[in-house]
Amino acid sequence: MPSNDTLMQYFEWYLPSDSTLWNKVTKETKHLENIGITHVWLPPAYKGAGGKDDVGYGVYDLYDLGEFDQKGSIPTKYGTKDEYVNAIRELRENNIKVLADIVLNHKMGADETEEVLAVQDDASDRNISLTEAKPIKVWTKYTFPGRGNTYSDFKWNWTHFHGVDWDENTGTAAIYKFYGKHWDEDVDKENGNFDYLMGADIDLNNYDVIKELKNWGKWYINTANLDGFRLDAVKHIRAEFFPEWLEELRNSTEKKLFSVGEYWSSNIDTISNYIEKTNGCMSLFDVPLHYNFYRASISNGEYDMSQIFEGTIVGTNPEKAVTFVDNHDTEPGQALESWILDWFKPLAYSLILLRKNGFPCVFYGDYYGIPEKNVEPKKDILTKLLKVRKYYAYGEQYDYFNDRNVIGFTRLGDYEHHDSGLAVVMSDGRGGGIQMNVGKKLANTTFYDCTGNLSETVYVDNDGNGIFYCKDGSVSVWIKQGQSVN
Ligand code: CA
Repeated sequence: MPSNDTLMQYFEWYLPSDSTLWNKVTKETKHLENIGITHVWLPPAYKGAGGKDDVGYGVYDLYDLGEFDQKGSIPTKYGTKDEYVNAIRELRENNIKVLADIVLNHKMGADETEEVLAVQDDASDRNISLTEAKPIKVWTKYTFPGRGNTYSDFKWNWTHFHGVDWDENTGTAAIYKFYGKHWDEDVDKENGNFDYLMGADIDLNNYDVIKELKNWGKWYINTANLDGFRLDAVKHIRAEFFPEWLEELRNSTEKKLFSVGEYWSSNIDTISNYIEKTNGCMSLFDVPLHYNFYRASISNGEYDMSQIFEGTIVGTNPEKAVTFVDNHDTEPGQALESWILDWFKPLAYSLILLRKNGFPCVFYGDYYGIPEKNVEPKKDILTKLLKVRKYYAYGEQYDYFNDRNVIGFTRLGDYEHHDSGLAVVMSDGRGGGIQMNVGKKLANTTFYDCTGNLSETVYVDNDGNGIFYCKDGSVSVWIKQGQSVN
């Protein structure tokens, strides 16, 4: 009897640089399986320019999974290659699939500089060049002295990139596009053209680059025994690249390679367009839903809860939605900070974990807390909601989204999951009750609020109807009395 799929993002930005995360995953695996985690997204595992302090997005050497003495250490921020491979083995032995974080937009921390001709583009409209081509000195030569030719003898130079944001000759920070190169057309239109994000922007039209990245992908899947990918910064990468790259890897490894892309936009039309252009080869994080949660959490009860799924991926294209509440970029102090306030977290997690649509992703920083920012762990309530998802969130769904404040939904349960079915009521303002139907299967039974927010019980009549409640600014999750979530 299969249970619901649940993804966990297993890192947050401010983890200490002590190279212990892979071992922590190994130790926690059984617990994760127990609370219903079926997929884990691990952070970028290759050596970054910042060595042991690099969260992983400043990619230096894709082939160095904490194996070579480069950038000041053998291990990465999270541990050694052996510890990584071991953690993945442990996860897979406990029925948890592993998604690797794939950063192919840029590289950082080159070994040597090169002289190259480049034009300077207007940072706010990269379609406009501000200068003629002039010689600049750029960090684009990657020779990997610590690894040499192990696994690959490919050495990167300026011809494999579009441009950089630093001229070493004059010490100038600006958007430099190499002479004769052009930014890819099929990227996000912010700043005129958002191909360039940071570091040395990889030229994903270059034949040698594409070939090398396909080879690397196969090597990586086989080395680490991966099940799929989280694809970083896809809006800065031409839309045709990932369909081709994933197809090649899926064909050659005969693995499904479930993939979820990070297209950071709250515009549902832009996102739908991207899903179409990429032939649905990847799911996408539901960024619009995150921003709905964020606005609701800061609106002091003035948010129209009946519209919480308006303009979201899960609302328009549920098959492709990976729903989430917060992540390593939205947490306090980060580039896209839009942290959902504590009081709203249980509401938001109920909306992603207990409903029929969307593949939900639980954030490490919510589950374990973020000590660096004094964010308390929400392990207790999240464990309850995760277990409700694992055992009871099955069957048809009835929605009661008819009020600005108090909304609710029910799941009717199915016959494969014993006593499954539930009723959820929440409000961003005044609490209240809604008469809802939980179906015939659960008729004539008593329900209780397993969050512990309310201690009363609710009797469901012969037709499956009951009046379910929640307190002010709170969520109550009702399941059949006698069923435990501990
Ligand atoms: Ca790019």
